[in-house]
Amino acid sequence: MLTFRHICIPTQANSTMPPKRELVDLSHSLDPNHISLWRTMPRFTCHPFTTIAKDTFSIHTISMGTHTGTHVDAPSHFIDGGKSIDQIPLDTFHGPALVIHLPSKQASECISWEKDLRPYVDRMHPGVIVLLHTGWSQYWTKDLEYFAHPYVEPQAAKEMLKLGVQVVGLDTPNPDQTGVGGHPFHEVFLGGGGVIVENLTNLDKLRNFIEPTVNLAPISIVGTDGAPVRGVAWDAGKRSDEAAS
Ligand SMILES: [Zn+2]
Repeated sequence: MLTFRHICIPTQANSTMPPKRELVDLSHSLDPNHISLWRTMPRFTCHPFTTIAKDTFSIHTISMGTHTGTHVDAPSHFIDGGKSIDQIPLDTFHGPALVIHLPSKQASECISWEKDLRPYVDRMHPGVIVLLHTGWSQYWTKDLEYFAHPYVEPQAAKEMLKLGVQVVGLDTPNPDQTGVGGHPFHEVFLGGGGVIVENLTNLDKLRNFIEPTVNLAPISIVGTDGAPVRGVAWDAGKRSDEAAS
């Protein structure tokens, strides 16, 4: 017979428990009235379906594209027969991040492999999630500026894949130029089995992290080419106040 004597109830935080880390929210909140959506994308709507006043419970109905807000692009976004979002292993989206700060990039300027990214080649390994921080999330909802974002040279897609990088995230809506020039980065990176995370925010808050670690897992929607993400980051590095244990 099970009695209360047999149940171990911790009375206080156990000293062997890992310290609680502060989480940084890497996703934009979804608000139909404050959102950046390229003109060819499905509109985002969110309405009450039931209300507490009328129905005793509240439910909303939402309508959106698979590439609305902060989201992941699956290979099937551009590659016929490529993996859909539900077919990508969950651990792909979780791991150490290499945050590359590119504060001086201007509107419609190229992020080049040789000059901007190659200097970090020693830190690009399988399992490392590469995040490109341009500061462009400050223009979220200011579409004229937001969609004139810097873009990434397709050679970078090829080189990062060669080094085993499978996930690249950006604080812009697109690694390619939006509305001009095709989709060369998408085609190369997704074609090599990689995934892209778009519309990230708050990457500036990772600047002083010792070991930035992220989880960018998308909702698993069967057969789709993308899905929304509530991305989070934390510092997995040991700080001086935790050193003695
Ligand atoms: Zn997308």
